[in-house]
Amino acid sequence: MPAAEMQVLQGMGVSSGIAIGRAVCIETRGPDVFRFHVPDDQLEAEVERVREGARHAQTELKRVRARAEEDLGNDLAAIFDAHVLLLSDRHFLGRVEERIRTQHVNAEWAVHKTAEELDDRFAHMDDTYMRERSEDLTDVSRHLLRSLQGIDHHHLSELPDDIVIVADDLTPSDAIRLGRERVIGFAIESGGRTSHTTIIARSLNIPAVAGLVGVMGLLCDEAPIIVDGETGTVILHPTPEALQRYRARKAELERRDRDLLATRELAAVTRDGVEIALMANIDLPEEVEEVALFGAAGVGLYRSEFLYIEKSPHLPTEEEHVQIYRRLIELAAPHPAIIRTYDLGGRKLAREMMATAEENPVLGLRGIRLTLARTEVFRSQIRALYRAGVHGDLWIMLPMVSTVEEVRRFRAFAGEVMADMEREGIPFRRDVRLGVMIEVPAAAMIADLLAREADFFSIGTNDLIQYSLAVDRNNEHVASLYQPLHPAILRMLRFVIDSARAAGIEIGLCGEMAADPRYAMLLVGLGLRRLSMSPRQVPEVKSWLRETTAADLADLAASCMSHSTAAEVQEHLDRHFACAISPAPAT
Ligand code: PEP
Ligand code: MG
Repeated sequence: MPAAEMQVLQGMGVSSGIAIGRAVCIETRGPDVFRFHVPDDQLEAEVERVREGARHAQTELKRVRARAEEDLGNDLAAIFDAHVLLLSDRHFLGRVEERIRTQHVNAEWAVHKTAEELDDRFAHMDDTYMRERSEDLTDVSRHLLRSLQGIDHHHLSELPDDIVIVADDLTPSDAIRLGRERVIGFAIESGGRTSHTTIIARSLNIPAVAGLVGVMGLLCDEAPIIVDGETGTVILHPTPEALQRYRARKAELERRDRDLLATRELAAVTRDGVEIALMANIDLPEEVEEVALFGAAGVGLYRSEFLYIEKSPHLPTEEEHVQIYRRLIELAAPHPAIIRTYDLGGRKLAREMMATAEENPVLGLRGIRLTLARTEVFRSQIRALYRAGVHGDLWIMLPMVSTVEEVRRFRAFAGEVMADMEREGIPFRRDVRLGVMIEVPAAAMIADLLAREADFFSIGTNDLIQYSLAVDRNNEHVASLYQPLHPAILRMLRFVIDSARAAGIEIGLCGEMAADPRYAMLLVGLGLRRLSMSPRQVPEVKSWLRETTAADLADLAASCMSHSTAAEVQEHLDRHFACAISPAPAT
């Protein structure tokens, strides 16, 4: 067989580093399912197709189970037993067959609609066991559809090491689960720099490229692949020369990272003596050690919802919350640990908390709105936060605030929680600072009013940009319109920073914008003295800071504010700073 030709694709580099491995394709959006009319005389043949598909899917799953048992042990492999059983469950298959016969539809459509109907019923039951069955059902119907469409599928445990996941889309929880297996890289069709999935890739330090429209159609499983998360280049079937160049480039980047790490003891201070707190954004428990490792000045954002997402469908207990918060506070000391209350909703949807599926969850019951709507569910987190406060410098931060009332209602709720604990004789700290994230345009525009209610602000540019520019942060088709340097964003930043200063409250920024050294310099020029980012970015931003003066950056920011477009601001920044990173190898 002739060797496949090398192909070079260009996407967005969203998590740096280079991965050289073998592709494993995962379709998460589910196969397209079309509806066809089936005439009377072909109905029984269509029913037989479903039965044959179910037998085939069962054989496949048993094969996967055997392999999983070898690699992961019987307990984990037993998950597949439920799936195998569902494939012979008359309750499910009987309904599919009935739908074919009564509605004269093709097997694929009948499977899809029956699974959708049962899933909806299970998902709204109070019983956790039944809700878990709805997830099994979704998996099983997907297996069955693939089997009907003649697509075979694999399980990761069947594959060799050095896996690069090639996917149409990945949820943040998919990325966590896969990232902890033998995955060394991600190449994804959807997504943007600030989608939560790519934030997770960075947290796990796995190179990733997003926005690779059509990549799924270009390769098959186990094809050799290179992912360059710096430049956004992905190479399919690399030639021996390309492999050699990328191995050298990988070694060079690793050397650069080691050199930067050596600067961790140095102060984050400009040449004219202005100190900047470079803090760490933490998503996963395994990252907490990195706060000290990369010399971060405490934790500027702990996304507590990932604690929930990892345990879903179970809620973490109050004790589990206390333990992780205490650890964060102790590792951040002598600096603060800023812990954000659950920002569930949007793509980080906790299905069992919602009464109905939302048509547009990104504008729905998420963040502080969900917390205030379901106080009984969130009480344990709030208790744990005030309890953990006794262990050091904890600041509590509220996500997705858009009104002053939300802050007042939260304070009242926290007051009730503390009164309960006082009655129960449980030690807690009352004077914990309470801040708000400025990530909704309305909050930015009333920053002066919110500053009277909050002890501090943290600007969340990931969402602020999404909502201000009406550009989905996760949609590759509008990625070029997602512009951190848009004059509207720069004006909002200036107004929010000035409002916080006038009110005399602390202000920082924890969106991904802070992790890009050029943007970070602009933010310091706009007056910020506290920036939070992935801990791995801290050494590089620090090295840029130490080369410049705050006075120079203030001038730079003033001139950036006078431009009319993001492209002009970008050009101005690029001209101001010499390019610090050596170019990627030619492919
Ligand atoms: C933000 O919106 O900028 C932010 C930091 O929060 P998240 O990325 O979790 O939405
Ligand atoms: Mg946000």
